[in-house]
Amino acid sequence: MRVNKSDFPILQQKINDHRLVYLDSAATSQKPMSVIESIEQYYKKDNSNVHRGVHTLGSRATEAYEAAREKVAQFIQASSSKEVIFTRGTTTALNLVASSYGRSKLSAGDEIWITAAEHHSNLIPWQQVAKATGAKLCYLELQADGSLDLEQVKGQLGPRAKILAIHHVSNVLGVIQPIADLAKLIHQQGGIIVVDGAQSIPHLSIDVQQLDVDFFAFSGHKMLGPTGIGVLYGKEALLEQMEPIEFGGEMIDFVGLHEASWKELPWKFEGGTPIIAGAVGLGAAIDYLQQVGMDQVEQHDRQLTAYAYQRLSQIDGVKLYGPQESRIGVVTFNLGSIHPHDVATVLDTEGIAIRAGHHCCQPLMKWLEETATARASFHIYNDEQDIEALASGLEKTKEFFGNAIG
Ligand code: PMP
Repeated sequence: MRVNKSDFPILQQKINDHRLVYLDSAATSQKPMSVIESIEQYYKKDNSNVHRGVHTLGSRATEAYEAAREKVAQFIQASSSKEVIFTRGTTTALNLVASSYGRSKLSAGDEIWITAAEHHSNLIPWQQVAKATGAKLCYLELQADGSLDLEQVKGQLGPRAKILAIHHVSNVLGVIQPIADLAKLIHQQGGIIVVDGAQSIPHLSIDVQQLDVDFFAFSGHKMLGPTGIGVLYGKEALLEQMEPIEFGGEMIDFVGLHEASWKELPWKFEGGTPIIAGAVGLGAAIDYLQQVGMDQVEQHDRQLTAYAYQRLSQIDGVKLYGPQESRIGVVTFNLGSIHPHDVATVLDTEGIAIRAGHHCCQPLMKWLEETATARASFHIYNDEQDIEALASGLEKTKEFFGNAIG
């Protein structure tokens, strides 16, 4: 199936008198009409609270919410929908693992392994766990392009390595990490792997069983779904051992004056009224992606990313970051000595939306010896014309700044 740009109503507008060229999908993707309508229909017809009401709307809302969970479970090949916890997004999902699993299982001298390329949401929660437990936060060696050398990783992970928490695809470098191999290496040491899948789930088919990951976190809004909904996948045996970190309505079984017990999985981790409309919208996004076919999505996004990398490398003064191969979704660059915020501002006058800054990766910026970069990122509604618009926008930016590319 070919993706029709007209499925995405937001793209049918002009920005500053130019066709909107949206190249900021790594920050958040745009939504097809079917996702927008699913939310509208839910609020128009089925809206109610879940898991409580005996009335018809209550049952419909519960069914819609739980059907979305089933869709997610099937989309990531989880062995059961009990392993799918709805959260607010990747950040909340990673904080849940760190606060519950991390704080209860680690002690002084244990090691948490991450990389300098983590998004802050897969870095700060582990810093906090390390402070609270006395565990050591350790960094895997990155190659110059942000990839990992598995032999080197093998040498770094020893018997005290209890958690490896790592991005699947970097939101800055676009590099795809070899998660299945990393899972094997940490499992050999008796540790677990926690994967930040925020930038992989929009582009790659994910099979959590084949990857053999213990936890996998992602956000709905980067995969054509709405904001405010995300997922923590966890292996059932591990989730069973974990305590909730939020307490209140919805997650309890029995409550007395001085004690309480929890519902079974997955609900024990979903305290309070859940994000029902968000889950419905995420389900519709999964339907859309599956109609296109995740293989098609991956092929399109890989090819377009490679095209963009190649096209930008032809522009005098462009410096690209990250690998040329094994990359998806993002191309990060600088344009001579022009500040990336200035690049993004000039491009906006041409209707082109890119991101500039540290991309929530300050340690990575330091590692790259940059204070900021510009980033163009893609999804299935982008095409080569969008990349050409970016390329000519960059030429105009250079002219605007008097060709200050030295
Ligand atoms: N990890 C990565 C790699 C990301 O790109 C992002 C979003 N920029 C996040 C985590 C955090 O996602 P969210 O803000 O949706 O919680």
